[in-house]
Amino acid sequence: MSVPTPPAPRRPQPLIDQENEFFWEGVKLGELRVQQCDSCRCLIHPPLPHCASCGSFELGYRSVSGRGTVYSHATVHRPLVPPFTEPYSVVVVELAEGIRLVSQLVGVPPGDVAIGLPVEVEFTEVEEGLTLPLFRPIHGESG
Ligand SMILES: [Zn+2]
Repeated sequence: MSVPTPPAPRRPQPLIDQENEFFWEGVKLGELRVQQCDSCRCLIHPPLPHCASCGSFELGYRSVSGRGTVYSHATVHRPLVPPFTEPYSVVVVELAEGIRLVSQLVGVPPGDVAIGLPVEVEFTEVEEGLTLPLFRPIHGESG
């Protein structure tokens, strides 16, 4: 009698709700979407139930370039959950549109990541059924 192999560990799955559904629908389409206030037009990320600037509940979204620079970064040396392979880079990217988001940077060794590094979004199927907006240096700067 053989013992069944346990399923491969999976990444934590995004919790998709009414507020962030547009973001994940965009990811499926290869489009980076950011929440935008219909009243004052400011960009909001991560999505909120109301505008943090003017308080309006009239919120939509817009597509952004997916290009920006590394605003801040950290190297993870010990994976918190099994599917990650260390070391890897977690970055705060400042998009050209002026808002910041947290993601993973690929295509460059963690030791070569620097503040100000130009990056662009790359939609990567990290495991079956899960595509994430990761970032990669522009112009193959390194790695
Ligand atoms: Zn607003």
